[in-house]
Amino acid sequence: MQIGTTLAKRKFDVVIVGAGGSGMRASLQLSLAGLNVAVLSKVFPTRSHTVAAQGGIGASLGNMSEDNWHYHFYDTVKGSDWLGDQDAIEFMCREAPKVVYELEHFGMPFDRNADGTIYQRPFGGHTANYGEKPVQRACAAADRTGHALLHTLYQQNVKARTQFFVEWMALDIIRDAEGDTVGVTALEMETGEVHILEAKTVLLATGGAGRIFAASTNAFINTGDGLGMAARAGIPLQDMEFWQFHPTGVAGAGVLLTEGCRGEGAILRNVNGERFMERYAPTLKDLAPRDFVSRSMDQEIKEGRGCGPNKDYILLDMTHLGADTIAKRLPSVLEIGHNFANVDITKEPIPVVPTIHYQMGGIPTNINGQVVVPNNGIHNEVINGLYAVGECSCVSVHGANRLGTNSLLDLLVFGRAAGNHIVDFNLKNKTHKPLPKDAADRTLARLARLDSNSGGEYSQRVAGDIRSAMQQHAGVFRTQAGMDEGVTKIAALRDRVSNLALKDKSKVFNTARVEALEVENLMEAAQATMVSAAARRECRGAHTVDDYEHPADHPTAPLGRDDANWMKHTLWYAEGNRLEYKPVNLKPLTVDSVPPKVRTF
Ligand SMILES: Cc1cc2nc3c(=O)[nH]c(=O)nc-3n(C[C@H](O)[C@H](O)[C@H](O)COP(=O)(O)OP(=O)(O)OC[C@H]3O[C@@H](n4cnc5c(N)ncnc54)[C@H](O)[C@@H]3O)c2cc1C
Repeated sequence: MQIGTTLAKRKFDVVIVGAGGSGMRASLQLSLAGLNVAVLSKVFPTRSHTVAAQGGIGASLGNMSEDNWHYHFYDTVKGSDWLGDQDAIEFMCREAPKVVYELEHFGMPFDRNADGTIYQRPFGGHTANYGEKPVQRACAAADRTGHALLHTLYQQNVKARTQFFVEWMALDIIRDAEGDTVGVTALEMETGEVHILEAKTVLLATGGAGRIFAASTNAFINTGDGLGMAARAGIPLQDMEFWQFHPTGVAGAGVLLTEGCRGEGAILRNVNGERFMERYAPTLKDLAPRDFVSRSMDQEIKEGRGCGPNKDYILLDMTHLGADTIAKRLPSVLEIGHNFANVDITKEPIPVVPTIHYQMGGIPTNINGQVVVPNNGIHNEVINGLYAVGECSCVSVHGANRLGTNSLLDLLVFGRAAGNHIVDFNLKNKTHKPLPKDAADRTLARLARLDSNSGGEYSQRVAGDIRSAMQQHAGVFRTQAGMDEGVTKIAALRDRVSNLALKDKSKVFNTARVEALEVENLMEAAQATMVSAAARRECRGAHTVDDYEHPADHPTAPLGRDDANWMKHTLWYAEGNRLEYKPVNLKPLTVDSVPPKVRTF
């Protein structure tokens, strides 16, 4: 692939990169409105990571216990440790029942109550009456909610005639001289050809970057490609220091056991058989938010109360739930127990450890899904033609810690909202802006470098080193010295990433080329995380630094949060490896703000 080669070009109204829940919720709005939409995906749409979601979608339907969106709003703000933007959170919680009923009408096979309404289970951090007691808010299809959701959306898209480009990998965003987005470059994996896909609007829906860590619940394709594309195009990444550890990954395997297990009544126990969460979160116990539970588990292990020969895991006990409930509500968990831990969960507890699960940060957007950047004193200036939704975006509803079930909800609410906004824009703007002459130069230079390098390293080794550095320096408990060392290690790895080589340079289905391109994206996500983390001199949500103290009057509250100096969003720029900050929006759309307070459960 030489620079200057004529590239195949195609033109669409809208190009969506990613066919997970967020991409397909948006594409459905666009196809139904008659727009010409291309949806690109590295894998077949229904293999996107959304398919693996187990526990449920949060919405205050109140089918099984008293609930309303104000409670959901409060829980989400508190869950975010006051880093979430309250306008976006209000929008999401108010829209939630609507998008869930819409899904129901699309044919989503939810579990049902005897009266025919949607089944809802309790989930971590979701409460009634502003923290008083757990509430049943997670709308579930057994423990295969994401599977049901993704297949429902795919079917609706097929019906609406959305065009899918399967096994196409988007490589770079094309911006013109004014900074507007006019398309993407993409690699057709089957042929190895590079294409220019022109569009009036590009929507990034590429999912998370959980594969920057060694142990992760995420699919292998979750390499943060959208983050890499944005970073290379000069767009900052927001709040990347905040990574969620899910409390219950199967020890040694990383495979997730949904929080729905604890929603159905499962209990975490230490080596003494003690239900230790009663000490850390007296009201919500095992159903405290994930940052809380993960830290408590790590603390138990650190203090010698872990289980097993090396005292390095915790036990999740479901033996009291009964085989019938497990078979009905948690059938996949039962299978995972057999297949990944050789445990029959109806008879014995299963070993678990906190495992990387979700990125709270991402590409900054407003509530229409438009990508926003600071410019000349304006905090959130829109980049024309560029949108982002789903886990790759940061709108920010999850702040410093996401509540379970709020991601599937985020995909639906903001996928739909972005879709509607894009439809309006496309109906008003009939013409495409011209492509710049150098539209594909950056992409071609990257590919040419890979193809011409004969002496460099192969991507697996470098990816492995990125993952172990992140695992070591950006864990559940961090230290300032550890993070500073991580920053140095990751910076050194960047040089190795720019010297990647391919042994096999063939074109057809060359997965080594795809992996090398993915590693470039891992690098951006990893450096954004490490640098943002080392700079944040406080604890908030999932970012816990051991060097700080508990608040003097609240010995059970998390280590020191510093609202006066740090209640602000981080923005990391690849160019110059530099940081900026912008304020958190504490003003909801219509209701009163939830003022910051100490976070206990
Ligand atoms: C095991 C597991 C269980 C979970 N359970 C729940 C739950 O019960 N409730 C909840 O709310 N959340 C849950 N989550 C979180 C939630 O599922 C994810 O955050 C969400 O599904 C992400 O959706 P998405 O649309 O952003 O991206 P994904 O579903 O990850 O899809 C990304 C898409 O982008 C495509 N893509 C990526 N890069 C490129 C590229 N360069 N070119 C072309 N295409 C590209 C991929 O092929 C894919 O189609 C869970 C997550 C995991 C890992």
